[in-house]
Amino acid sequence: CGIVGYIGHREAYPIILKGLKRLEYRGYDSAGIALYDGKDIKLSKTKGKVADLEQQLEQQITTNGNLGIGHTRWATHGVPNDINSHPHYSNSGNLVIIHNGIIENYDSLKKELIKRGYTFKSDTDTEVLINLIEDVMIKEGLKLGKAVQVALNQVIGAYAIAVFDKNKPNEIVVARLGSPIAIGVGDGEFFIASDASPFIEYTKNAIYLEDEEMAIIRKNKDLKIRKIKDDSLVDPYIQELQI
Ligand code: GLU
Repeated sequence: CGIVGYIGHREAYPIILKGLKRLEYRGYDSAGIALYDGKDIKLSKTKGKVADLEQQLEQQITTNGNLGIGHTRWATHGVPNDINSHPHYSNSGNLVIIHNGIIENYDSLKKELIKRGYTFKSDTDTEVLINLIEDVMIKEGLKLGKAVQVALNQVIGAYAIAVFDKNKPNEIVVARLGSPIAIGVGDGEFFIASDASPFIEYTKNAIYLEDEEMAIIRKNKDLKIRKIKDDSLVDPYIQELQI
């Protein structure tokens, strides 16, 4: 229901946690965060409030890292519980996703993936999508951004997603169809959120993705926006937020 992400030079955890709190008004039943700590993904998620997640995370040894994604879930596929909460890993554990919306053809995609040897921990449509992305990546030898694009072209439904690959921790891939994504553009850093409220204190420059667009967001680089369907490049339109 609510998504937040950060890539840059700051500690991602406090930005994401505060961002999730700002998005609480959207309603949710569970919350979770995945951080890249420089070596591995650290993932925590729980049914309940962002404050419950915070308590859980504060018992961990480290919440360090300059890359992360966070989610508040409003369950549509699978009951609200810890396992169905986002983020979700792919089978290899390399990829991690947060997702708002519904993958309507998840059942047929899941059956195909099971035939190909994939297993599922949760009952969510989201875990199907991340494994589809992984399958495309491996099968077609594609990089994350391309694999996301190919996978989304097989999907029927609505989504706002953010995905990263622990083997490429300088980038986050986001995409939207029917669910909002705002990207905050800072100095060598980017913020991602369902609306601008989680990042307005850090930057006034925002890009709102249009439906059927995806963006590859790289630390210290320009971001690339493409149309998911025909792969054409879109000129980023940066708006100045008024406050
Ligand atoms: N369909 C996904 C799920 O049930 C995402 C729900 C949401 O938008 O929060 O896990």
